[in-house]
Amino acid sequence: MNLALSIIPLTRPTIDEETIAGVCEVMRSGWITSGPNVKEFESKLSALFGGRPVRAFNSGTGTLEIGLRLAGVGPGDEVITTPLSWVATSNVILEVGARPVFVEIDPITRNLDLDAVEKAITPATRAILPVDLAGLPVDRDRLYAIAKRHGLRVIEDAAQSIGSSWQGRLIGSFGDLVSFSFHPNKNLTTIEGGCLVMNTPEEASLAEQYRLQGVVRSGMDGMDVEVCGGKFNLTDVAARVGLGQLPHLEAFTGKRRELVRRYFAGLDAAKIESFGVRLPPRDFDQSNWHMFQVVLPEGEGLPKRSEIMARLKDLGVGTGVHYPAIHLFTLYRGLGWKDGDFPIAESVCRTILTLPLFPAMELPEVDRVVSALVSVVSDFQKK
Ligand SMILES: *Cc1c(COP(=O)(O)O)cnc(C)c1O
Repeated sequence: MNLALSIIPLTRPTIDEETIAGVCEVMRSGWITSGPNVKEFESKLSALFGGRPVRAFNSGTGTLEIGLRLAGVGPGDEVITTPLSWVATSNVILEVGARPVFVEIDPITRNLDLDAVEKAITPATRAILPVDLAGLPVDRDRLYAIAKRHGLRVIEDAAQSIGSSWQGRLIGSFGDLVSFSFHPNKNLTTIEGGCLVMNTPEEASLAEQYRLQGVVRSGMDGMDVEVCGGKFNLTDVAARVGLGQLPHLEAFTGKRRELVRRYFAGLDAAKIESFGVRLPPRDFDQSNWHMFQVVLPEGEGLPKRSEIMARLKDLGVGTGVHYPAIHLFTLYRGLGWKDGDFPIAESVCRTILTLPLFPAMELPEVDRVVSALVSVVSDFQKK
């Protein structure tokens, strides 16, 4: 294989042969939807998160939505969140009939600006929905101090931060409601899926009702429906994929951290910041490094992000945009947001670029991405 011509994808899941064999076993077992594998997956996740109750769902989006319902968020309520996220983050707030309240981001962490969160609180505020972008944890001490001071629930959108920690404590092992996603691009996958970490067995039992049509069974043949639930259950096939992933979580995170150190070493050596490219915070140990994102310079005479992406693609390097500003999508403009509402977030959303990073990536591939980025950026600056 000619390494110089091979394409380095943005990301790729790592699924081992044991997991594939396990999936085949489930497929042949006669029980392929929610069953013993989901129960086992949930109990392993619960052990990971210090024994807190955990339930699995068929997407991170569904998980977040159920988190909002458990927190009692509904019509008339406001939920404070970030405009720099996957659009699921705020779509679920609309889905439960509440109003998302976007606030400005911190230009360094690219997460919610917690001062802005506190200023946005009104009598209608019911909850805060923070996102750990790229796996970098939002300051949990300040977040929960604000929530406590104002009597708010927190639904952590930790879709990207499984394996991340805050001051030595694993994200999910503490806090209020914590929602993870197991989409294939995330650090741990069930193909599609997610899980919610909760506080009490009562919350877990309500989550089960929301997960499957509100159904509560009793005795041999009893069935009742008290709440209007949906269809959010995870299949046993998917849970088996998750069970095969869990033992690798630490190694996956470790490999990402190793690759990220290489990125910093290469980009520092090339003095990439002198070209106006901004690197992420050097939080080597708390972040699970779900993504490695740079922020490109913008201005008169400088290339657009799309041109840089096209040049990198020609050099065999896949890149991505995570994410366009949510409040500027047509749906949200229709609800009243406009250009200029959050200048920092809008600028970062126009210029942020995700570089390849996944556990099966190798150090020489990082070097190739670094040289490609440096050559493209310095080339443009010469013009
Ligand atoms: C992936 C993701 C979601 C949604 O998860 P799905 O499993 O794709 O439904 C929500 N929020 C954030 C921040 C995400 O990255």
